[in-house]
Amino acid sequence: MKIEPKTLGYICTTAHPIGCATRVDQDIAAVQAHGVIEGPKRVLVIGSSMGYGLASRIVAAFGCRATTVGVFLERQSAGNRTASAGWYNTAAFSRRCHEAGIPALNINGDAFSAEVKSRTLDCIRTELDGPIDLVVYSLAAPRRVDPSTGTRFSSAIKPIGMPYEAKTLDLMKGEISSVTIQPATDDEIEQTVSVMGGEDWRLWIEALEGANLLADGIQTVAYSYVGPPLIAPIYRQGTIGRAKNDLEETARSLSKKLHPRNGRALVAINKALVTQSSSAIPVIPLYLSILFRVMREKHLHEGTIDQMIRLFANYLTEPEAPLDEENRIRLDDKEMRSAVQEEVLRIWQEISTENLAALSDIERHQRDFLHLFGFQVEGVDYTADVDPAVSMDC
Ligand code: NAD
Repeated sequence: MKIEPKTLGYICTTAHPIGCATRVDQDIAAVQAHGVIEGPKRVLVIGSSMGYGLASRIVAAFGCRATTVGVFLERQSAGNRTASAGWYNTAAFSRRCHEAGIPALNINGDAFSAEVKSRTLDCIRTELDGPIDLVVYSLAAPRRVDPSTGTRFSSAIKPIGMPYEAKTLDLMKGEISSVTIQPATDDEIEQTVSVMGGEDWRLWIEALEGANLLADGIQTVAYSYVGPPLIAPIYRQGTIGRAKNDLEETARSLSKKLHPRNGRALVAINKALVTQSSSAIPVIPLYLSILFRVMREKHLHEGTIDQMIRLFANYLTEPEAPLDEENRIRLDDKEMRSAVQEEVLRIWQEISTENLAALSDIERHQRDFLHLFGFQVEGVDYTADVDPAVSMDC
C-alpha cells in the first residue's frame, strides 16, 4: 500500500517504514563519519526508539560498538494500520546492527512497570557477557502507572502560580495565535513530577544494582532542558520544570549511591529539538521555528545525533570534562548563547502569521516534524507500494 502522513494537531498517526529506515541510516552514517569513540561496551537505553534515546543508542552501537539493550513502547502494524515510527526505527536499527555484527536486544513494553524491568534484567543476565556500564534514561511519556500502588498519574504541561499568555504556532497550518494557559493545580504538579521526575530512573538503577548488573565505573545519564526566560513560564518554571528539578535532584542522590562502585549519575541539558514530545508542549514549536532559523544562520544548528555524538565523545568518555555549577552537562551551550537568544527574542516580538515564513524556519520545522515519522525524506519513493508489516527480529 501507499503510505501518506495523517497529521492530527501535533501527532502523526501513520509512519513510513522506508523513510524511518533511511533516517536511521543517515544517523548511523553521521556517527561513522565522526569515527570510533572509546566508550561503554554494554549499554541500556530506556526510551530508545525515538528522539534523544534513539540517537544515544545509535552512537553507543556504531560509535562505541557497544551491545545495546533498548526499552521502548511502540506499536506494530495491524492490517492497513502502519506500525509506529519508533517500531520502524528500531527494526531498521536492529537490522543494521545484525549486519554489522553488533548485538542489539529489544524490549517493547511499559518501562514504568515492574514486569518490563524484570524482563530487562533477565535479558541482561542471560544475553550479555557482563554487567551494564552505561544506563541512558530518555523516557518522555504522558502518563505513568505507579508499579507499587497501581495509581495512574498524568502529566499536565502548565505554568505554576499564574496564567501564561503567549504566542503559539499551529505547525501544520502555519498559523500563529495567542494562547492563555491556566496555572496547574497542586495535584497536577505532583502528577507531572511522578511521570517525568526521577522516581522511575531511581527504580531502574536500584533494580539493576539489586540484581548485581551494574559494572564498576557505571555511568547513568538522564536528559533535561533549561531554555531561555522567554519560555520559562511553560517550561522551567512550570510543571515540567518541577519534574526536571526532581530528575536533577535524583542524579545527585544516585551519584552518592553509585560512588562506592566508582560510578556517577549525570544529567545532560540538551538543546531544544523537534521530537514527538517537544511538539506536544504549547508555545515551544514557535520558539523552535525561530531558533532554527537563527541557529542555522549562525551555522550553529545541531540535530539529535550531533548532540549525542558530542555527549559520548566529550563527556561520557571524559571524566574530567567541565560540568556547570549544578553538576550538569551543558549540550545547550550554543542554543543559550546571548547572540542567539537576543535574536530569537527580537524576532519573537515581531512575528505573526503574515511574516512567519520570512522570519522563521517554519518550512524546515514542518519537514523535521514529518521526518520523525519517515515522511519527506529525500531519496524515498512515496508513490511506491510498501508493506507496513516489518519484523523487529533479524
Ligand atoms: P521522544 O518522544 O522522541 O522519545 C520518547 C521515548 O520514550 C520513545 O522511545 C518512546 O518509545 C519511549 N517511551 C515513552 N513512554 C514509554 C513507556 N511507558 N515505556 C517505554 N518507553 C516509553 O522524546 P525526546 O524528546 O527524545 O525526550 C527524551 C528526553 O529528552 C526527555 O527527558 C526530554 O525531556 C529530554 N529532552 C528533550 C528535548 C527536546 O527538545 N526534545 C530537549 C532537552 C531534553
